[in-house]
Amino acid sequence: MRILRSRGDLGELDRLRGARPLVLVPTMGALHEGHLSLVRRAAAEGPVVVSIFVNPAQFGPGEDYAAYPRDLDRDLALLEPLGPAAVFVPDVATVYPQAGGVTVQPGRRAEGLCGAGRAGHFTGVLTVVAKLFGLVRPDLAVFGRKDAQQCLVIAEMVRDLMLPVRLVDAPTVREPDGLAMSSRNRYLDGDARRRALCLSRALGQARRLIDGGERRTAAVTAAMTEILGESDLVEYAAVRRLKDWSEPQRLSGPTLLAVAARVEPARLIDNLVLDITGAGASERPLLGAGDGP
Ligand code: AMP
Repeated sequence: MRILRSRGDLGELDRLRGARPLVLVPTMGALHEGHLSLVRRAAAEGPVVVSIFVNPAQFGPGEDYAAYPRDLDRDLALLEPLGPAAVFVPDVATVYPQAGGVTVQPGRRAEGLCGAGRAGHFTGVLTVVAKLFGLVRPDLAVFGRKDAQQCLVIAEMVRDLMLPVRLVDAPTVREPDGLAMSSRNRYLDGDARRRALCLSRALGQARRLIDGGERRTAAVTAAMTEILGESDLVEYAAVRRLKDWSEPQRLSGPTLLAVAARVEPARLIDNLVLDITGAGASERPLLGAGDGP
């Protein structure tokens, strides 16, 4: 497992380019089992490069950039047994060599949900992902379904800028009690950790209603919002069609159900991606089924 820090170091990746795809797994570190599942998924495709970079451009003023957990030694120890070819750990000056450089404006799928409450967030995400694609030049990149809107916004960028990389979304890894794993879960103390379960419970209730035949979006979002009331602040309980990012009045077809809430001091998100028919619903990936970007 090579540790690469500079642009020059990335020349080492050239010996990995060949018959199998070179696969990038971008992360901000503070790794947990969710990240490790992406690395395992990536390793099934070809040699893996994991990037670890806490991207200042995707944090808004007053967000947790300074406090974001950083523990490179622990991250490297977790990665080593999975056998990635390389870990790319650039510093801020390597990724942003000049102030005021070009940024990438997101498309339609940055509207609403996290795009509404976090101004500039997806511009920061797309700019760093475009840079990582330019630096590493992967054939394939693996992202987590946990950050569903982020994954779709990146897929729109790849489609619209015609970037030569394929994307895969990997399922959300959860704690045994249902909480979606997140580097920010370590901000939660006992009571907050318990209340953080309201996100996965809200999605579970939505699923039960849909399985019971409910197809009115308003009824499903109202049920989710009520359960999210256990948090300190409900940011959203939203439903979007994967195909065109519209808000349906009735649930049908490939659909994202997404929730966000503050459980102080953390801001948490979670989601469920469903194929909904008259007969029932089943979980599905975000990408690759021809229903979205
Ligand atoms: P982050 O380090 O939070 O920027 O996340 C890096 C990648 O890991 C992103 O593609 C996330 O969607 C993914 N990820 C984060 N948490 C999970 C999880 N619980 N399950 C699966 N993927 C995750």
